[in-house]
Amino acid sequence: MKLKSNKVSKPLLDNPPLLFVKSLVMNDDFLSILGAIEKPLLFASRTGFQNINKVKDLDRLVQDLTLKALTLNLSKQQIGVLRDLGRSFEEYSRLSVDKKKELIKSSLRAIIDLKIKKEKVSNISQVEKEFDKARYANDDLSKIPIQFIKGVGPRISKILSKKGISSVEDALYNFPRKYEDRRRIKKISSIIPNTRETVMGRIILSGLIRSRTRSMFKVVISDGTGAISLIWYQFNMKYLRSTYKKGYSAILSGDITLNNFDNSLQIIHPIADDIEVIEEGHQIEGDMLNFNRIVPIYPLTEGIKQRRMRRIEKTVIDEYCDRKIDFLPPEVKLRNRVIELDEAISRVHFPSDKDTVIDLDDPFSVYDSTPHRTISFHEFFLLELGLALKKRDVSKMPGIAFKPTGLLTQRLFRELPFDLTPAQERVLFEIEEDMRSGNPMNRLLQGDVGSGKTIVALISILKAVESGYQSALMAPTEILAEQHLSSVLKYVEEFGLSVVLLKSGQNKRERDAYYNAIKTGEAQIVVGTHALIQERVEFNKLGFVVIDEQHRFGVIQRASLRCKGSNPDVLVMTATPIPRTLAMTAYGDLDVSVLDEMPPNRQSIKTLVFHEDRGDRKEAYDIIRKEVDRGRQVYIVYPLIEESENTELRDIRFATQMFEELKDRVFPEYRIGLLHGRLKSQEKDDVMKNFVSHEIDILVSTTVIEVGVDVPNATVMMIENAERFGLSQLHQLRGRVGRSEHESLCILISMFKKSEDAQKRLSILSQTTDGFKIAEADLTIRGPGDFIGTKQSGLPELRFASLLRDSRILGDARKEAFKIVKDDPTLERHPELYKEVLKRWGERLELASIS
Ligand code: ADP
Ligand code: MG
Repeated sequence: MKLKSNKVSKPLLDNPPLLFVKSLVMNDDFLSILGAIEKPLLFASRTGFQNINKVKDLDRLVQDLTLKALTLNLSKQQIGVLRDLGRSFEEYSRLSVDKKKELIKSSLRAIIDLKIKKEKVSNISQVEKEFDKARYANDDLSKIPIQFIKGVGPRISKILSKKGISSVEDALYNFPRKYEDRRRIKKISSIIPNTRETVMGRIILSGLIRSRTRSMFKVVISDGTGAISLIWYQFNMKYLRSTYKKGYSAILSGDITLNNFDNSLQIIHPIADDIEVIEEGHQIEGDMLNFNRIVPIYPLTEGIKQRRMRRIEKTVIDEYCDRKIDFLPPEVKLRNRVIELDEAISRVHFPSDKDTVIDLDDPFSVYDSTPHRTISFHEFFLLELGLALKKRDVSKMPGIAFKPTGLLTQRLFRELPFDLTPAQERVLFEIEEDMRSGNPMNRLLQGDVGSGKTIVALISILKAVESGYQSALMAPTEILAEQHLSSVLKYVEEFGLSVVLLKSGQNKRERDAYYNAIKTGEAQIVVGTHALIQERVEFNKLGFVVIDEQHRFGVIQRASLRCKGSNPDVLVMTATPIPRTLAMTAYGDLDVSVLDEMPPNRQSIKTLVFHEDRGDRKEAYDIIRKEVDRGRQVYIVYPLIEESENTELRDIRFATQMFEELKDRVFPEYRIGLLHGRLKSQEKDDVMKNFVSHEIDILVSTTVIEVGVDVPNATVMMIENAERFGLSQLHQLRGRVGRSEHESLCILISMFKKSEDAQKRLSILSQTTDGFKIAEADLTIRGPGDFIGTKQSGLPELRFASLLRDSRILGDARKEAFKIVKDDPTLERHPELYKEVLKRWGERLELASIS
């Protein structure tokens, strides 16, 4: 294709001294000969054949050149055309000017024809490929079955589909999980022990070796310069026997050590993944896919080997990669130093010789590699583009422009026993600005446990109420809903407001009365769990919604909420200090306010990590006793795993059992209460109330207590089986104490035998109370998927990019995506992008513009 544009449309730049034309034919390539014929003809034809008489010896020149071309290996048809061309110039000098002109014109046309045809036939496989592609003339690669790929029959395609690879698209995005540098394979003789190296050789011995003490399986590999032993003490004999046969070759990487007895080189328990066995007869020389390059290592399933996988990936890339549509606007690519998508995909699979070996766990390594950065950027860009569109949709909707009168809020300010922190003031200002604007607010309020989110929410609710609208306050659990109710009432009881609590266990008459009050608008503030939104509750004039501790819900659930009112303003509160980049994605359609400052005079919480043995436990109980004797209260929490009914029951049984034990044997002198999720609502209520009013000293509980509960007199939080909790969850639990001027303690009791990491993990909690640092540590340990629950969040899954590792790329992509939506809100100037974002997000996006 290049030839056409370069050579045909660009005629002679200057007069060519014709004598030199011959020497221009530097090589005997067909195209360059054609070019050399074409040049003087073009020159002659320029500006209405002005130069036609300046060209001398044109007849000789064309004939010489055609003869020269005829020595090449050409098709019959080409030969025919060239012969005719040469012959037609025999009489050239004797022709009339008009005939000359005609001949030049027709000759030029013939040359162009030859050139184009040459291009096509020169690459027959290309033509075939085009044909094949036409058969599947579908630019959606996810619609092309993987079985269509050469070398993938029904058996292999079944295996691949188990790995989630059922289309060409899937295969393109099935990226290696690591790389191995096989550009330089070490000679065994030159290996220094205690290093990691890659070697290659033939298996000269393979079998079981018994000694008096124990038996092992040994495979010896030699490359002619030396030998290296692979040793297994624990093994599946049948598997090793059939895999490592004498005469096979192997290429492997591993930690090579020195055997102390016989000074031989060895690898003990080599990782199966790092060894590739090549059956007899396989050609190693010239195999540029598996050797002499940076080799991709793919995630595999049973029934398929690395080499087969590489071959399949290579075929897919060679045939289809260039059809991957690069939807990124060129200026975005330029600004972010991002390359073409097809090149990036190809080089992430098969790095070129100039590429470095990338460590896929290392953020810097990935960022520095242009192909890898490109893939991540693409994925994040689509993700953020979807979020940007969603955000645009919401902000486009007409919302409520609140006009707070100050009637209620001024009064509240007068009665507050404390001054707001500057952070609270700032956040309140941000919220009020949103409320006053005519667009719906969607704001995330992020603040560590105890940073004082509740009062911010309450003030905002009152602003809505004094503007003449109903407000709703949603909590994740009933206990919290009730607590919210009491803190609302605490402040506003005398304001004469009508506050309604919706919860389970209310009888029909009660409920109907509440529903009615909500419907008529008599109820000004409605408190409840999220059932409040799901149920068929009808509001009269819902204007403001607060969702507390929202990290359990996702982006999508929030959408259903907007339907309840005429686009009410929404404030989402979370105590999980999500690292900024993650917050932007998990809550990418929200604006973010941060309470980054604690109310003054907070006692810091001391955290002790205790071992699960008698001595430690006794010490913990002694501490509790001392605190209760001082008039303080204590939480003791047992883990509750939410995944399965059965474990939950077991945990409740455990908590119940421990409750009995603590009550009867350990602390018979104190008042002990039990709280768990299976209690009836009324029972939970009573227990909680009794704890708040200090009729209970020690509250034994499952994690229902986790979020938000506020009993300032409680000063000890003891958590059993702490190793079973995530760090952020422990931090939340710990936040239940330290809420008064009394010094507070958190005691983590843990089984370290179970997990060696537990101690290290838990020690982070004893080192810091900064929720942000804890969240980051948690993130590193658990990974972001777990952390924000991508599954529930409704975000499309990422195939290569990692929220954690690639946070910098995420930030770049987000900036660009939001910029595009700002400049082109309907993406009408970016149709490819629009198509792609719909494809990627599917129905999850629920864009208003679709309907
Ligand atoms: P969060 O919900 O963010 O965990 P809360 O709203 O429950 O925190 O506040 C924790 C405690 O701090 C509450 O007892 C609350 O009354 C108190 N508090 C809130 N703001 C202030 C402030 N500015 N000064 C002093 N105490 C405050
Ligand atoms: Mg709270």
